[in-house]
Amino acid sequence: MGVVTNISEVSGHISGFVNQRTLKSAITCSGVGLHSGQRITITLRPAPADHGIVFRRVDKILNGEPVSIPADWRHVVNTMLCTVLGNGDDLTIGTVEHLLSALAGCEVDNVVIDIDGPEVPIMDGSAAPFVFLIECAGTVAQQKPRQMLKIKKPVTLEDKGKKVSLSPLEDSDSQTLAIDFEIQFDNAVIARQKTSYHVGRASYKNDIARARTFGFLHEVEQMHAAGLARGGSLENAVVLDGDTVMNEEGLRYADEFVRHKVLDSVGDLYLAGAPILGRYQGVKAGHALNNAILKALFQSPESFCWQALPESQRGSAGGVPNLMRAVAAAF
Ligand SMILES: [Zn+2]
Repeated sequence: MGVVTNISEVSGHISGFVNQRTLKSAITCSGVGLHSGQRITITLRPAPADHGIVFRRVDKILNGEPVSIPADWRHVVNTMLCTVLGNGDDLTIGTVEHLLSALAGCEVDNVVIDIDGPEVPIMDGSAAPFVFLIECAGTVAQQKPRQMLKIKKPVTLEDKGKKVSLSPLEDSDSQTLAIDFEIQFDNAVIARQKTSYHVGRASYKNDIARARTFGFLHEVEQMHAAGLARGGSLENAVVLDGDTVMNEEGLRYADEFVRHKVLDSVGDLYLAGAPILGRYQGVKAGHALNNAILKALFQSPESFCWQALPESQRGSAGGVPNLMRAVAAAF
């Protein structure tokens, strides 16, 4: 696999379709791994059309090359605390969902991600630092249409009160990924939160990217005791002690919790290998069900087709209106 470092800018779109995009230049950042506590550096590099998103463990060299793991649902090996990719040979990369969410939100199709440790840095617990990184590098259209995964028939999974489904868009919907998410916690701060969102570049950055991951103090203490979440702190998660938000700065949005679930789902669904044109509905769903719904979808070939999207049908993905219809906060 080649890493392209110079890609000339393509103006406009080829044949009237929405085209694939990559980064204009390579860019690096460092941060702490949530679970390992290790300092980890990632470098995002431009990649050719049809390359997809591929991680390279640059600290693990095999036959003179870093070990590669594609960002693909078939490579998901663990979904307990975060989404973990593996090469089937004990080599893994954890906490990929926030970075993948940022790449999906910024409409980046092709990128090589060099990483020198076992998990993507947690940064501030949201996807905003990765959006900033992608914007600093800039993105560029490539000479091939983006292939979208269009949902034709509903696929639904349920598990102990949790539910996830992918279904076709209505004609009136924007041609993008629509998300309805609902969570319910026995906690006064979170309680029941429900939101609907259409993935688009500007709305992603403003309404989704900044929502941080969250946890409860007693869980954090249990994880620390088990040697997990070693890098976890109030700098990279919203932490709740009973009905109190422990972070001095408070919440970034009144319904930050459900927005973070949307952020996670956007990232997990990008493991389909392409943007989804369809409606995703999640009720108390997490990484495990998000991976399971992709498996179920690909096992049901009549449920989807691949399609390039004419520029004229482009939905909110152009970064136009903020279509967030937040039914904010508890009700
Ligand atoms: Zn998350």
